[in-house]
This record gives sequence, C-alpha cells and structure tokens, in this order.
Amino acid sequence: MSLLTLNAGSSSLKFSVYDRTASEERLRGHVDGVGPDMRLSVSMAGRPSQERALPGGARSHADALASALEVIAEAAGETVHAIGHRVVHGGPDYAEPILLDAEIEAHLRDYIPLAPLHQPHNLAGVDAARAAFPDAPQVACFDTAFHRTHPWVNDTFALPRKYFDRGVRRYGFHGLSYEYLAQRLAQLDPEAAKGRAIIAHLGNGASMCALRGGVSVGASMGFSALDGLPMGTRCGQLDPGVILHMLDHDGLDSRQITELLYKQSGLLALSQISSDMRTLQQSADPKAAEAIEYFVFRCRRELAAMTAILEGLDAVVFSGGIGENSAYVRERIGSGFGYLGFGVDAERNAAANGDASLISPQGAAVRAWAIRTDEECMIARHTAELVGLANP
Ligand code: ADP
Repeated sequence: MSLLTLNAGSSSLKFSVYDRTASEERLRGHVDGVGPDMRLSVSMAGRPSQERALPGGARSHADALASALEVIAEAAGETVHAIGHRVVHGGPDYAEPILLDAEIEAHLRDYIPLAPLHQPHNLAGVDAARAAFPDAPQVACFDTAFHRTHPWVNDTFALPRKYFDRGVRRYGFHGLSYEYLAQRLAQLDPEAAKGRAIIAHLGNGASMCALRGGVSVGASMGFSALDGLPMGTRCGQLDPGVILHMLDHDGLDSRQITELLYKQSGLLALSQISSDMRTLQQSADPKAAEAIEYFVFRCRRELAAMTAILEGLDAVVFSGGIGENSAYVRERIGSGFGYLGFGVDAERNAAANGDASLISPQGAAVRAWAIRTDEECMIARHTAELVGLANP
C-alpha cells in the first residue's frame, strides 16, 4: 500500500512514493527540462539517482506525467491509497490541504490567471493521477496556505480596495518548504524556533519568510512568484513603471513581458551566462560576479527589512539548492550583520552539508542554520493525515 506525491512545475516534475503512513520514502523521481532536453531520473529508498530512458518523442508535460506515472505504478505495488499534489495557488480561501472533488477543482481552475505557469500543470497532474488511479483520493497541498496567517498590511497593495477584494493581494509562495523547515527548526532548535525567525528558501525560485513562533507573518513573494528576491530567470522586485515603459516604449505585449520577467531575467539576464548559481560561482567573467552581487544585495536587504517587522531576530535558516549548498552565498549574505548578533562562522559554514548544520558562531545571539528542505515529505504527511492513514 502506497502513498504518492506529485509536484508538477513549469519545466520539471517531481514525484515520490511513500508507505501509507508517509513515514518511509520508497522512491523519488524527477523529470527535468520538460521540452527537447527532457530527462528522467529516479532514486530508490535514498540510493543515488539513476537516469532512465524516456519513450521516443517524449517531451511535453503530458509525456512527463505519463512517464512519471509509469515509474510510480511500478513502484507503488498493488494499492495506491492516496495521492498528494503540490498546488501552487490556493487563493485567499484555502489555508489547509484539502481533499479534492470536482467543485473544488473548478474553483482552483479560477486561480489559473494568478499562477499561469504553475497552476495549469498542477491541475493536469491531478487529472492524470485520477485517470491512472481512479479509486485513490486526491489531496491538494497549497504553496500559499502557510502564509494565510499574515496581517493585512503585509498582503495588501496600496491600490483601490476593489483589487484586494477580488484577490489581487500578496499571497506568498514556497509555503510547503517553509512549513517543513519551521517543523525541522522546532525539532533542532526549539528555543530559537519559538522566537523570531527568517527562512531563506534560495533555489531557482527564491524567497524569504518571516516567522514568529513558527507562524508566517510575512513573505517576500507577492501576488505572483515574480516579486521579492531575484531568481534564476525571474526578476524579483521591480518598479511597476518599468512594465509601463516596456508596454509604451518597447511595444511589448503582455505575453512577451511575461516571458521576459519569468524566463529571461534574474541571474541569467545579469550574468548573460547562466541562471545556475553553481555555474556563476565557477565563472571568471565579471558579469557572473555582478549577478551574484545583486542576488546577495537583495537577500541582505530583504533580511534586514524582515528584522524590522519582527522587531529583532533569533534564528536564520538557509535552504533551497543555493541556501543548502553554497557556503559562499551564505557567508556573503551573513556578513555585516554584527549589529543584529547575526553572523556565519567560517569553519562551520564551510563544513555544513547534509540534512542540517548549525553555522552561527558559538554563543551567537542569532542561531543560523543550513537545513535541507523537503516539500515532498510535507505533501506526503499532509496527505496521510487528511486521508486518516498517519501514525497516531
Ligand atoms: P528549484 O527551485 O528548481 O527546486 P533548487 O532548490 O534545486 O531549485 O536550486 C537550484 C539552484 O541551486 C541552482 O542555482 C544551483 O546552481 C544551485 N546550487 C546547487 N548546488 C550548488 C552548489 N554546490 N553551489 C552553488 N549553488 C548550487
């Protein structure tokens, strides 16, 4: 008996197979580069991942889903008890994971204009999983749900109120990652977790979350997943006047601007080399160094702004591919914050790897951690709980 998770993104697809209580992971897979360079890799029970051949001609999102479901069906055994899906947008209403039915799915389709690059793929994943496993309950776990505790000032824009009322507000994303990391911090460092914490999820997509006592009170991503920190190919915070300029002066239409802001901006645009932090760190090109400089600068600014909202700081957590693996970026973000009692110890930082490492100096006022995130695990736990299979 198995429990499945599906995390269908704009150009990738992650999936996993757990036991029915979500306590043991049996398989984890990843389809990367949906399109001409699509690759499928699978790892069984924590072993190193191996590339698998894809059927000839496979390159669309539907092909990615079909291949993933085939691998899943092989590994899942006879009974699939439930399937948990990452759904990026739960709008203003959904503050918890939910068991899907036709009415709720129709409601979630209404949010497609709010997350055009993710929501359609998430919902296509639900349809494909239902077709493959018609008897299994399907659960949606929202990236926005963890942030529904924000005060109004964090989530509103200073626009006519009708916009807020019809859902034009700051939602915050990466919620499944923040929820997992908040739980990990509470296990690893219970005192710090009770206080004021900032979690930096720094991957291809990047954002920060401010927490009080483990509850989200603010996040850097806003109405869309474009706002806040610069990312691999997304711009991060941008003066809306720039978009007016692109419309009026460059004659770009909304489709072209969408493409530019989501896919041709961020580290890729500034470096003109790559969206990938590891590649930029290895490059001797000054533009690569400048792109990293801008990334670090905006992270430091956001972190400092969040300390003002939190009225101090007790813990910082670095996570995501960059936050977990780049000692250089952690060290750069963590320097110059002596006035807050926050810093990164050079030796601990360089030695940090694996699941979780304390990287602040001995006795520092602010406890700094690098912790590996696990959105799949969070989806699996929620799904098991919701369908009543979790260990008591
Ligand atoms: P996603 O948001 O797509 O899940 P990840 O969390 O996997 O992305 O993060 C991908 C980013 O992490 C890339 O920019 C990659 O270069 C970076 N990264 C991974 N390992 C390292 C490393 N050792 N040093 C620097 N950056 C790294």
